[in-house]
Amino acid sequence: MTKPRIIAIVNQKGGVGKTTTTINLAAALTLRGKKVLLIDLDPQGNAATGLGIPRTARDVTVYDVLVESRPISDAIMDTVVPGLKLVPSHIDLASAELEIGDRAGRTTILRHALSRVDFDYVLIDCPPSLNLLTVNALSAARSVLVPLQCEFFALEGLSQLLQTVEMAKANINSDLVIDGVMLTMYDQRNRLSAQVAADVRKHLGRAVFKTVIPRNVRIAEAPSFGKPVIMYDPDCAGSKAYIDLADEMLGRHSKSRK
Ligand code: ATP
Ligand code: MG
Repeated sequence: MTKPRIIAIVNQKGGVGKTTTTINLAAALTLRGKKVLLIDLDPQGNAATGLGIPRTARDVTVYDVLVESRPISDAIMDTVVPGLKLVPSHIDLASAELEIGDRAGRTTILRHALSRVDFDYVLIDCPPSLNLLTVNALSAARSVLVPLQCEFFALEGLSQLLQTVEMAKANINSDLVIDGVMLTMYDQRNRLSAQVAADVRKHLGRAVFKTVIPRNVRIAEAPSFGKPVIMYDPDCAGSKAYIDLADEMLGRHSKSRK
């Protein structure tokens, strides 16, 4: 059995490209021959939609795993990408925090649920909040990937996010690392994008991935066709960027493992 590398895709800011990155990075890693499981930890349930799974087909969800103690194997589904598996979410997950909030071990439910899965990578799409669901992701994960949008307020909120990661590290998961920060929705024609990118690199140095995801309309269109962009339009700039991101990540991990 392979012990998976579990990555939480986190940013408490909404609409910065978490779900888009989780879907497309998962698809690109699958294309590279990795066994990948995507966990949708956001009650909005967008990851499943973007992978071609209608709401009516989501029978057992991450809610059942976290709140009802269902084995995670019951919730793992096929997706439109051959080989890529998904644990879908459900709107009920919005109340999970209340339901599990006073249980002992409430921060490690997901970690325990994932302790026996057989994958190379598990990517967790987090909600836009630093709530108990995100804390469960931080406790299960080996590393954190932070998508940052190339806009003026990009760095705002980052210190709070880094503090939360430090808190998780101190209290529940001493092995947790920041895998990296990745810039997305980069607009070449916009000087602000270049300025923000330079600023972020100055502050965070090598933690920032070299690969930058451009603002690309094909990336935004793909979910309405229930496909990741690398299936919807394999040759567009967005597809190439997500494949580059997967390759850069695999390169980093092959250096840091063992
Ligand atoms: P939330 O915080 O609500 O979960 P999110 O951080 O998961 O949001 P996404 O849903 O991935 O963000 O993206 C927000 C919007 O931006 C979506 O409409 C998506 O299609 C679009 N988008 C994401 N990345 C790009 C890109 N590189 N180019 C163009 N549009 C993009
Ligand atoms: Mg999302």
